[in-house]
Amino acid sequence: MKTIGLLGGMSWESSIEYYRIINREVAARLGGVHSADLLMRSFDFQEIYDLMCGGDWVGLAGVVGDAAQSLVDQGADCVLICTNTVHNVAPQVQQRLSVPLMHIADAAGRAVKAAGQTRVGLLGTRFTMELDFYSGRLSGQHGIEVLVPDAGQRADVDRIIFEELVKGKLRDESRARYVEIIAALAARGAQSVVLGCTEIPLLVGPQDSPLPLHDTTRLHALAAVDFALSGV
Ligand code: GLU
Repeated sequence: MKTIGLLGGMSWESSIEYYRIINREVAARLGGVHSADLLMRSFDFQEIYDLMCGGDWVGLAGVVGDAAQSLVDQGADCVLICTNTVHNVAPQVQQRLSVPLMHIADAAGRAVKAAGQTRVGLLGTRFTMELDFYSGRLSGQHGIEVLVPDAGQRADVDRIIFEELVKGKLRDESRARYVEIIAALAARGAQSVVLGCTEIPLLVGPQDSPLPLHDTTRLHALAAVDFALSGV
């Protein structure tokens, strides 16, 4: 089995899900008392948040790139950045690494295509919904049309992530607001929704949603297991 390197703490509320999903999946596939061979570096999220909100993407690429390199030096055979937003610096991080940086938008794009869908809604932080790094990758590399919520809806999606979900607060009113926004995306022609923030699946599940959902936490974690067990 190959060693998976996880860059977590962005936030830890979803990193713990990566740890659980990866270990459960390895156990299911290999049986016995198998679990994953992995390394995790968990950041103080305040440090990451301050860099993102200050627009210091160069600084963020440096901090995340140093941590990724350190995981590789310790034996990681691949690296995952356990958040969608920080993939805004994925190209700079990948450039420094001799092993694959498994891109979360590729895991999402493959799932959308496998479901036979070509037009999706995207929920995430304001950075993920408004910058080009995520939508551009889904459209450019996977041929998927991406719809984002309108400005007022985006503000609510982003506020709920940073004021509630990364602090472990799961509120019924916030779930209802997300469901309303998903319904609006459906009315505009979205065939499914990419939950492009690793904490959103903690709040909204298939049972709540008028559209099929693509849970990027799960898809990204399972892509790591595929990689780790390839050739085993
Ligand atoms: N974990 C979230 C994401 O997937 C948001 C927190 C962050 O900005 O890293 O984008």
